[in-house]
Amino acid sequence: MNCGSDQVIYMDNNATTRIAPEVVDAMMPFLTDCYGNPSSMHTFGGQVGHAVQDARQAVAELIGAEPEEIIFTSCGTESDSTAILSALQTFRDNRHVVTTRVEHPAVKSLCASLTSLTGHKHRVTSLTVAADGTLDLDQYRDSLSDDTAIVSVMWANNETGVIFPVEEMAQMARERGILFHTDAVQAVGKIPINLKENAIDFLAISGHKLHAPKGVGVLYVRKGTPFVPFLNGGHQEQGRRGGTENVASIVGLGRACQLAAETMEEENTKVRGLRDKLEKGLLATVPKARLNGHPSQRLPNTSNISFEYVEGEAILLHLNKYNICASSGSACTSGSLEPSHVLRAMGVPFTAAHGSIRFSLSVYNTEEEVDFVLDKIPAIIAELREMSPFWEPEKMKQASGDGS
Ligand SMILES: *Cc1c(COP(=O)(O)O)cnc(C)c1O
Repeated sequence: MNCGSDQVIYMDNNATTRIAPEVVDAMMPFLTDCYGNPSSMHTFGGQVGHAVQDARQAVAELIGAEPEEIIFTSCGTESDSTAILSALQTFRDNRHVVTTRVEHPAVKSLCASLTSLTGHKHRVTSLTVAADGTLDLDQYRDSLSDDTAIVSVMWANNETGVIFPVEEMAQMARERGILFHTDAVQAVGKIPINLKENAIDFLAISGHKLHAPKGVGVLYVRKGTPFVPFLNGGHQEQGRRGGTENVASIVGLGRACQLAAETMEEENTKVRGLRDKLEKGLLATVPKARLNGHPSQRLPNTSNISFEYVEGEAILLHLNKYNICASSGSACTSGSLEPSHVLRAMGVPFTAAHGSIRFSLSVYNTEEEVDFVLDKIPAIIAELREMSPFWEPEKMKQASGDGS
């Protein structure tokens, strides 16, 4: 099958990323020749075990951890579930969880179903965010209580790119004897992380968000943190996660972490430059366009823009004609168009939340691609607005100059 990836302008890297060619090269032997089981006693398996250990080392280095603190999992979602459920089993009498209203479904849905999963009644506090998507630390401090088992706050938001002060928050949790988990799926590889210097107990990574394959993740567990496995089985991962290792993907993730360490500077200069050019261009050429999320406290690759009075889905369909891939902030749930829970939490008005588009770039994007997108979007928005029942009154209002 040929998906035509060389024809595509891919600006949806917070949904998933291209596997780096270097990563494919590193994986290939483990999909062909080197098929031994890393737990086997013989040399044939043992050398595969060494490759898994090398990958563990590479992941640890990227985030300033020790190799023993790295557990390979099947995905970011598994890592999030494992951390939160582990804490709740560790502190059986502490039934309170603190999280935010803007988490990824991996955390949000889990927190919503804790009572049915554990058979205990849990109390969940979901912190609100300000209009720019940032958290209020005073509200956070007040939410921590004697029966809080764990705090789960994402390092960076997947829809807006807004970065949360998780290191400060983790310190506040530690002072109260509360465990702290961060879903760092969007942050790892994009911004520097050094776990030696903070009080974070658990951290989740997903391979496919940093140019490694889908279906592999990591849970970091700080040395000394009480831990209850999610998957019980063999003695893999020092008995902390049963199941024969997904060797090829683990090796790929290790390579991707090495590459991320090397390209982090590019991410923060070249990618940021492209993102800023795209964003400034769109805000300057399209009337009634607005940025969602804090302008600077944000990932370098993400831009979430609302084009008021149009539907995000309609914009995406038009972009699709030009092979431009992006995401809309609304998700089509059970036939009705629900605006994104993140933008709703930020209080983005209905007419803007529905017309939001997330552009998320990577080191593979080019200046030409940004120019092309900047060339196409203003006409797309103008055309859609001509058909929008919401735009007509807005246009008249602006033309007549009366506010009614
Ligand atoms: C993609 C994503 C996840 C889920 O990772 P999977 O490996 O797809 O399970 C969790 N959190 C955030 C913030 C994400 O962007």
